[in-house]
Amino acid sequence: MSKLENKRLKGKVAVVTGASSGIGQGIAIAMGKAGANVVINYHSDEEGAKETLRQIEKAGSKGVILQADVAKPQDAQLLIDTALENFSKLDILVNNAGIQQDQDFLEMSLEEWQKVMDTNLTGHFLCAQAAAKEFVKRKVKPDERTSVGNIVFISSVHDIIPWAGRANYTSAKAGLQMLMKTLAQELGKYKIRVNAISPGAIKTSINQEVWQTKEGREKMLKQIPYGRIGEPEDIAKVATWLVTDEADYITGTTIYVDGGMTLYPSFDE
Ligand code: NAD
Repeated sequence: MSKLENKRLKGKVAVVTGASSGIGQGIAIAMGKAGANVVINYHSDEEGAKETLRQIEKAGSKGVILQADVAKPQDAQLLIDTALENFSKLDILVNNAGIQQDQDFLEMSLEEWQKVMDTNLTGHFLCAQAAAKEFVKRKVKPDERTSVGNIVFISSVHDIIPWAGRANYTSAKAGLQMLMKTLAQELGKYKIRVNAISPGAIKTSINQEVWQTKEGREKMLKQIPYGRIGEPEDIAKVATWLVTDEADYITGTTIYVDGGMTLYPSFDE
């Protein structure tokens, strides 16, 4: 495939939240490589965001960095406005920002519950709403095989797999599942596509404590029938394809990119 044919997102504009590290960084770079101009959101890691920008520019696309907290309504709006001001439009929102704040349920404070809900669920709601309000201004004929905009939620296999000690995280991710489906149903008439990607175990800073030890890696691998721990690129490739017109008939779906983690691996005997 020639370099030009690879530019499947040429002319598109994407906002990626939490794009200074891990999966968000991988998606922002992959979309930049595919030809999209990208608003690179970071929360606290400015250096990480600069690295994302460097990679996007190296690939010949443009990027702009914006510090913002997705859980604040004015920041969510600013993300969308930044795309419009710098690139005159918005085509893609990747709601990726997320945190874990693990705690046994009996000890979990309201603050620990709320913080995860604010970032992992309310933040996604705020950004999705700001993006959708922009998308609905654009018109496409109902029979056209292209959408006016794409929203992708980065959820988790823990939207369906319970996980002790993380009631806040699993509840937020399960909530995302219904948010995604409801938005897909409600916004389909405007030709807005809404989907989720649910990663399994991907090597990033969120789970570094586990995969950086041999014991942790072995424990992780027991949960993965496909036999390898995922990399941000595994998610980035799927996300990039999902927002192209090749996937135009997909909406309201969760794609599990998990090496089979959702296959109840402990039942393999
Ligand atoms: P990560 O810690 O590298 O990335 C999370 C990003 O979100 C960081 O850049 C962080 O700064 C940003 N962020 C946190 N709070 C924010 C806020 N309020 N506003 C804006 N940005 C904020 O970890 P990751 O694994 O790349 O996580 C990305 C997403 O993938 C998360 O939603 C996570 O739940 C999900 N996920 C990760 C895995 C995995 O195994 N790594 C598995 C399933 C789901």
